[in-house]
Formats: sequence, C-alpha cells, structure tokens
Amino acid sequence: MKWAEFLGHQRQQKWFANAIAHNKLASTFLLVGPSGIGKRTFAKLIAKSLLCTETDPKALDFCHACDTCLQIQCETHPDFLYIKRGQAKNSEKEKSVITMEQLVGSKEARMREGFCYEIRIRPYSSRRRIGVIDDADTLDEETSNSLLKTLEEPPPGAVIFLVGTSEKRQISTIRSRCQIVRFSPLSIQNVEQLILRNNYVQDSSLAKSIAAQSHGSIQYAKELSDQSIMDFRNQIQAFLQQRPADFMGFSKAILDHVNNSTAEGQPRRDRLIWCLDEVTDALRNSLWTQLGVSNQDHEAPNALFAPLKNLPTKTLVSLIELTQETRGNINRFIAPAALLEAWTANFIRTARI
Ligand SMILES: [Zn+2]
Repeated sequence: MKWAEFLGHQRQQKWFANAIAHNKLASTFLLVGPSGIGKRTFAKLIAKSLLCTETDPKALDFCHACDTCLQIQCETHPDFLYIKRGQAKNSEKEKSVITMEQLVGSKEARMREGFCYEIRIRPYSSRRRIGVIDDADTLDEETSNSLLKTLEEPPPGAVIFLVGTSEKRQISTIRSRCQIVRFSPLSIQNVEQLILRNNYVQDSSLAKSIAAQSHGSIQYAKELSDQSIMDFRNQIQAFLQQRPADFMGFSKAILDHVNNSTAEGQPRRDRLIWCLDEVTDALRNSLWTQLGVSNQDHEAPNALFAPLKNLPTKTLVSLIELTQETRGNINRFIAPAALLEAWTANFIRTARI
C-alpha cells in the first residue's frame, strides 16, 4: 500500500512528515485509538518511508518497489522488528499477551535475544532500526518494566512504535517515555471505500449499510461482511428487544455461538469480547437515547438501536460497568461459560426486566 491509498489519518501523516523534514522525529511513539482503523498499517508506512533506499530521507515517502519496501511489507526486513501477541509458542496464556521472552529473551539468554536486544544491534542494511510492538494493551507490569530502559535510552536513530487502543492501558512510566499519537475512527465514507476495495462485499448499497454500522473500524466492517456474523448480530438485537426478556436464552445463544464459530483459546475469547461489545453498544445507545444526546457518529437519537432505553440511567450505567468488567476478565482465563453465567445472573438482578 502507498500513502496515496491509505485512507484517513491525514493530520497524523502531516505531523510525521513535518517531524521528518525538520529532523525532529522522536524515538518512541505510542499509537492509540480503536481497533481496526489502520494504526498498524500507519506504523508500517512510516517504517517504509524512513528506510526506503530510493526516496529522499527527509520526505515522508517510499518507492514501494525496492527490496527494503518489499521486505518491510512481508515483515522480513532485518532492520524492521515486529512483535505481536500470539508469537510465543509455550502456554495458552502466553499466546494472549506480549511475553518477557519476546522482549528480553528466554531465561537462559536474558538480554542476548528478544526485541530490546535486537533493536540495539547496528542496522544491517539501513540507516536505522525500527521496531513495532503491536497489541501493546497486553503488556503487564513485568513486561512494561522490562521495556523501560530501551524506551528511555533508545539506540541512536532507532524508532519504536507501541500500538494499542488507549494510553490508559499503559503504566505511567511507559506513557511518560512515549510521544502519544491519537487516532480517531475512520469516516463512514472511507470505510465504505475500503469494504469495496478489499472486496468484503461487491454490492455498493450493502457496503454503505455495513460501513454505517462499523463505528469507523475496517476490522469490524470485515466481520459484519460475514453473513453468519451479521445473522448472529441480528439475533443479539432480537434478544435484547424481546419482552419478557429471556436473558438465560440470550446467554446460552452467546455461549453456543462462541463455542461453535471459532477455535478454542484466544479466537474464542476474542469472539466473546465481540459479543459483549455488541451488548455494550446497545446499552450505550439506550443511555444516549434516554439522555437525548447524539452518539459519536452523530446519529440522531431516534435512529439508534436502543432496546433498553426505558431503564433508569443509573441502571444503564451499572449494566455498562458490569458488562465492561466482565469483558476485562475474559483474558484472565476464566472459562467463558462460568463468566457468562455470572454476568447473566448479575445482569438480570440489576436490570429487573
Ligand atoms: Zn523503497
């Protein structure tokens, strides 16, 4: 992908172009914003622009044809380090987070391998080394602390990107060492263009409708382009609208969907997170409708799916908190069935519908 094909995030592009042109590029960045809006791609395009051998090093540009550009695209360039969760091969737990091993090497070879070691090695064929730590939300206190020295005294010329959803997910000592760059959701028009360009669906009116429900995330739009996911989303909405409410049936439908639609382990946990996010959206819409405000996509309150808008605001806030708390526990390896059972019982007790 070239810069000209990269949709959205113009402000961030200009900002980097300016910093590179004036030789004022910081060494460590924390890119934050909702999932699936292009932060990872953005980091990769910056890396290409900084390492490409065919373009002016002071311009935010790359040729898209030299060996360097092609190798970064395939994540095989020796001066481009990319780590994300799931690369560890040991336990299931380690697959869901960035591990110590990825950052500072195995116990037997501490600081002789891993990201913090490799970023210090002299560039192999380029002017500098560039590192991307994806899924930075999954850094815990131990792994965060292991990064601090590298972030504080980065090797000359190195540029490091941490990619996550919110700076609040980072401990303060990481935040204070990074230049924070915030990304907003894509516009509905950009999502629509990307759906058609990536061939998720061919029909332009369907693309428009999916884009309108995507919250500006191309990742979410891709999921909604899958008919079985769209069907299940409709099922969730039907359950939330049904009166009398059947939350036991609702919870069972979610569990069946999670167990039947994906492989065990992280994919299943990710799917459960998706389900709870759908519920949270419906609760937020209900709250917004009740307060008479438009949501972040500036939809009119009466156009929103707000199935619980008749509940008191206090109850809606409690339900949102409960659902978010449950979501936060998903990656703590509590079995989905047990987690859903507890969530349902608390939901029924709080909602009283
Ligand atoms: Zn190039």
